Order: sequence, then C-alpha cells, then structure tokens
Amino acid sequence: MKRLTQDELLQFLKSWETCYDLRVPILLPDGGRAICRLADGPLAMHGGSVPAKPTSLFFPQDGLVFAAGANGYLERVDTEKRLFIIGLTPTDLQCLRFIDRFFSTGERDDLYFASRDKAIIAVVSGYCGRDGEFIPPSSGSCDLELYHDGIDWLLMPYSDEGRELAASFNAGDEVVSLESVHGKAVHPPSAEQEVVLAAAAILQETELPDAFWDEIGEHCIQCSGCNLTCPTCTCFGVQDWCYGEHTERRRVWDSCQLAGFMREAGGHNPLATAGQRSRRRIHHKLVADMSRWGEIGCFVCGRCDLACPTGIGIIAVSREIVTRFGMPDDNSKRD
Ligand code: SF4
Ligand code: SF4
Repeated sequence: MKRLTQDELLQFLKSWETCYDLRVPILLPDGGRAICRLADGPLAMHGGSVPAKPTSLFFPQDGLVFAAGANGYLERVDTEKRLFIIGLTPTDLQCLRFIDRFFSTGERDDLYFASRDKAIIAVVSGYCGRDGEFIPPSSGSCDLELYHDGIDWLLMPYSDEGRELAASFNAGDEVVSLESVHGKAVHPPSAEQEVVLAAAAILQETELPDAFWDEIGEHCIQCSGCNLTCPTCTCFGVQDWCYGEHTERRRVWDSCQLAGFMREAGGHNPLATAGQRSRRRIHHKLVADMSRWGEIGCFVCGRCDLACPTGIGIIAVSREIVTRFGMPDDNSKRD
C-alpha cells in the first residue's frame, strides 16, 4: 500500500491516461461533480458519490445496439482502450455488483459486458465524503481503493492488476496496511440504511393501503429523476432511429414513474395511476428484488432523494412508511 500526496495522486492518474480510457471525478462549472475525463475539469476527489448514476459508464442512457445500412448489418465498434474508473464509492460498488448479476443472469448482456469485463475500478473512501464526511472503506471487491486519511491518499491494491498498477508507480511512501492507519473499526448501518431496511421489512410483511400510495403519487411530477439517477435501475426501451438508408437500434433508459411505462398496445395500463407507479418503484426495490435476489435493490446511495424535486425519494418514503405503519412486529400502528 502506498501513501500519495494530492500531487502524487494526480501524477499517478496522468501516468495512465495514454494506456486507459481514464475517468475521474471532476468539478463541473456549476459547482457539481461528475465522473469524466481528466481534461474535462479540475480533479475533484472530495465530495462523496457523484450525483449521476455511476453504472451509466457500462449501461449508458442511450446506447447503440446495432446499426444497418444499405449493405446490411454494421458491426458495433467498441472503444479500444479499457475503462479505468476512479471515484465510485463502496456503496456504488455494491450497486455495480447488483447490476452485474442482473446483466449476467439468463442471457448474458454483451453490450454491458463489452466495457464492464475489461474495466479497472478504483473506489474512494475515508475522509473525502460530502462536507468531509467519512466514507467507510470497501470490502475490497475492486481493483484499487484510494482511502483519504485526512491528509494523504492511501493507495490499496486488491486485484493482481491493481497490484501491478500500484507497483509500477515509482512515488509515494510505502504503508503497511489500512488497519495500521484506520484500525479495525466496525461501521454500523447509517440512520438512512436502518430506515430503508425497516420499511422493507414492513412492506415484505404487509400490504399498505392504496390511499397511502395515492398520497405519495400525488407528489410525483413524472420528471423521472429518481430512476435516471439510481445505479440499480436497469429498465430500458428499444428505439429504431432511421437516417436515410442508415438505421440504428438503440436502447434508452426508461422510467417506471412515466404514465406510459407499462401501457399496452391495446390501451390497458396496469400502472395507470401515479399511486400505482410510486408503489411499484418502492416495491420493486424493497420487495420484488428481495424475493428474486435475496437482497433489496436499494443500497441507500441517496441519489433519488437528492434528485426528487418533490421529496419522495426512497429514504423519504421509507421514513413515512416506518412512521405511519410502525415496525414489522408493531401491529398497533396499522389500520
Ligand atoms: S437510494 Fe435511491 S438511487 Fe440509491 S440505490 Fe436506493 S433507490 Fe436507487
Ligand atoms: S424524482 Fe420524484 S417527482 Fe420525479 S419521477 Fe421520481 S418520484 Fe416522481
């Protein structure tokens, strides 16, 4: 493990720019942050998770599936350089693992794995969260981790490739282990994680009244921000774009909060009301994913709560559920 100053970290990143399609957190002109190329703005490692869906690096909002021209099918050309992504948080890594399983179950999704299989992932943790908040370290299921100890960055390699990358950088002091710096701290779930888990337990056991979901749905303005920022949302639609003799089939993110999400060609709509769609959004993550995958599909990254302009992200809705309907074994608060 190496200890790098901020300048050494920048040198380390620049040293990989020619070999890899390097993506790092940068500062945007409006003060926000995004994972982009180094040339796109100043490096902004501090601030925790970026607001945009980090899994979009492998599952973009609008992705080419194939194209056809006058002479028939045209092969999709994938980028030559491998992605080297820095700036996911350990929570983002859990979301990535969740959708890796989704895209590899049943028919393996070639489009997703064309870039995902070859990617190198470095997470950030330590004292570099929003407003200096502490981000607990990952469990190591990535290639590298950059842990901020309050002063410097500790570069920890986990995979063989990560070890090679770290060893080839001839700067930075050697440090024995993260434990020698950070100790063996145990990080209990946050208040937000606890409330989402409590809401999941209630929903898995109880059918809430339609009136509750209608009330939540009344606040939804169908902007789709919750789905478009959620790293575990995977719904997409398929569109064919024709330009003269050239046609492109593309897949484009969809949103379960839009009125037409499940509308059928005959006109029937199983999710016709905003209440039904809100119920579906929360149930999918906290109930359906649990029964399909054995874990809920929300890792409490906080993006949908930040994105929702009307305050009905999953943490806010979970708080309402727990407040109004109590803990799973507390029947006194239910109708
Ligand atoms: S907090 Fe919201 S955006 Fe984040 S994983 Fe959960 S549902 Fe998705
Ligand atoms: S972000 Fe909020 S208002 Fe927008 S679609 Fe999602 S729940 Fe509705």
